[in-house]
Amino acid sequence: MANLSDPITFLQGIGPKKAKLFAKLGIYTLQDLICHFPRAYEDRTKVGRISDLEVDHSGCFRATVIRTSNFQHVRRGLDIVRVTVSDGFRRLPLIFFNQNYSADVLKYGETFIFYGELHLDRGGYCMINPVYEHEDSPPVQTRRILPIYPLTAGITNTAMTKAIGQAMAVCDAPAEIIPPQVRQDYGIMEAQRAYTAIHAPSSWEEVEQAKKRLVFEEFFVFSAGLALMREKRAVKAVEPYEFTNLHSFFGCLPFQLTGAQKRAIEEIVADLRSGKPMNRLIQGDVGSGKTMVAAAAAWLAVQNGKQAAVMAPTEILAEQHYFSLAKLLEPMGIRLCLLNGSMRGKEKKQYRDAIAQGIFHIVIGTQALLTEDTVFKNLDMVIADEQHRFGVAQRAALTQKGQDPHVLVMSATPIPRTLALLMYGDLDVSIIDELPPGRQPVDTFLVDESYRARLNGFIRKQVIDWHQVFVVCPAVELEEGQSIKAVEDWAKTLQKTVFPELRVALVHGQMKGSEKEAVMRAFSHHEADILVATTVVEVGVDVPNATLMVIEDADRFGLSQLHQLRGRVGRGKAKSYCVLCSQTQNPQTKQRLKAFCKTNDGFQIAEEDLRLRGPGDFFGSRQSGMPAFRVANLSCDLETLKQAQEASKDWIEQFGTAHTPECNALRERIATLFAQTEGTMN
Ligand code: ADP
Ligand code: MG
Repeated sequence: MANLSDPITFLQGIGPKKAKLFAKLGIYTLQDLICHFPRAYEDRTKVGRISDLEVDHSGCFRATVIRTSNFQHVRRGLDIVRVTVSDGFRRLPLIFFNQNYSADVLKYGETFIFYGELHLDRGGYCMINPVYEHEDSPPVQTRRILPIYPLTAGITNTAMTKAIGQAMAVCDAPAEIIPPQVRQDYGIMEAQRAYTAIHAPSSWEEVEQAKKRLVFEEFFVFSAGLALMREKRAVKAVEPYEFTNLHSFFGCLPFQLTGAQKRAIEEIVADLRSGKPMNRLIQGDVGSGKTMVAAAAAWLAVQNGKQAAVMAPTEILAEQHYFSLAKLLEPMGIRLCLLNGSMRGKEKKQYRDAIAQGIFHIVIGTQALLTEDTVFKNLDMVIADEQHRFGVAQRAALTQKGQDPHVLVMSATPIPRTLALLMYGDLDVSIIDELPPGRQPVDTFLVDESYRARLNGFIRKQVIDWHQVFVVCPAVELEEGQSIKAVEDWAKTLQKTVFPELRVALVHGQMKGSEKEAVMRAFSHHEADILVATTVVEVGVDVPNATLMVIEDADRFGLSQLHQLRGRVGRGKAKSYCVLCSQTQNPQTKQRLKAFCKTNDGFQIAEEDLRLRGPGDFFGSRQSGMPAFRVANLSCDLETLKQAQEASKDWIEQFGTAHTPECNALRERIATLFAQTEGTMN
């Protein structure tokens, strides 16, 4: 027997060379191997007759060898074996290329199960290179539901299947962490059975049950982890804020707050009076006015004699926050400072000293505020903007500064309410589902290549009106290096051929952080007319003068992502537009894009995305900082996720601190899962 943590070289036939190939798939240990789940299955259960086969389709049949041959050497690198089989009703010639051993294995009079694709040539029916097994041998390649694994060059599906089978034979599946009661209540398969069934299912029903179990398990661990984080904070007592009257704050605002903004602020006030540290997420569409809510929270901290920190994911965003908050709060006698990476050592030290002495009330910067040794006098309010860049690990880190500070995170990625409750189980959620009055919706159009000339004219018109234009291209990930070329080429074409008289700038994800920021900053200062970009512009840069967003190959983006991109325009007074360019002929895709043109409501779009693509996508790359879900990504239904969350919550309430083997195993798994997240922090 072996341990799950043993390297895969423990297995027969896997030496250091093979191990390197497996490593490409992230497989190092036996556990990794057992947790390498199929991406699909092929139905090879039905074994029929030759007459059941359809031309150009694959199928299984049982047949006996009635004519054999030696291999024929046709030319260098090409040997052929021809065999004829019969099922008693029909004959079928089989042809094997470069499989000379088949001449020996397929002996006259013996019966095999074959699997392959039927061809119809001028000469009649035949089959090329079918797989086969003797009827007395155990079913491996035929007579079963065959798992299809994610592979890499040098590892065949059969090799992968064999390796996993071996691993399953020499060690136990990962420990059971779902308590028997929970399994019973939710109809969840046992761990051992589920791991066996996912790799070697005996029926389609078993496949479904095993998938459900594994998704449930993954989410059970994740939400139990969030619940534990929440518990840990909830038992802490802090002094309630005494001063929570916001009248004078409201009086200084240049406008009336929306109902949704007021509600969010009321919820914050209730948190601050509760005597428990606040853990709140504000979800609001782009432009819904989250900054005001953050300002109210920071203002309250200052009125109660405390300091607040505001963090943004990039330096430009931090700068923009600094200017808008300073404009609002400095007249009220509050001192703010901006800490950024470009500050010189001496200047930085002066600021740091002032922060430590409590001279500055509000400090604004990037996430570096957390990691660097900035010392506060009495930090009590930590505000993180654009939460989709802050993962679980950062959320935990936020609470480490100061003494159990209140935490407010803000996200502009609309996530359907149900899903938000699952993903942010450690936080309370306020939703700002209302835009300030008088906002002009961004008019959105779907066009194909025949509109190119008119589109170019439209771009030129925006620039002549002294406005700016974004052109976003998808990062093509076909081959390494190609991604940059697509947008680089396009930028070159636009500058050289299409708009030689205009200023075209380029920014993409493979540029250095400082380079990117420099281009974005220049664009926001109107030093370029057109910014050609990959989706790096998605997060929060405010260029109110930009009035047109052109999205190339729009069908390659998810709806929520399109919505984020569209949110980059329509931020100023001028009417703004979004043009989706797509050559797609797929009617569903067209319908999806047309639906997008009709609404500006991010939550409605997110709901639609959830309906069309399932929850897996919301855990995908855009949610960097989420743990690497293995199964939930592939296939998960909301119902299973909800059940898992409900179950884990109940379970934590009852047994959160118990020391049974199951509880210990669960806590260990949580620690592993959240530690993985740490790796994706930056
Ligand atoms: P986001 O939620 O995307 O962070 P902001 O806080 O940046 O949105 O607000 C977008 C714009 O709307 C800002 O210019 C802000 O001053 C303005 N704004 C915010 N709240 C209101 C309101 N209640 N009425 C009018 N304008 C508002
Ligand atoms: Mg904002």
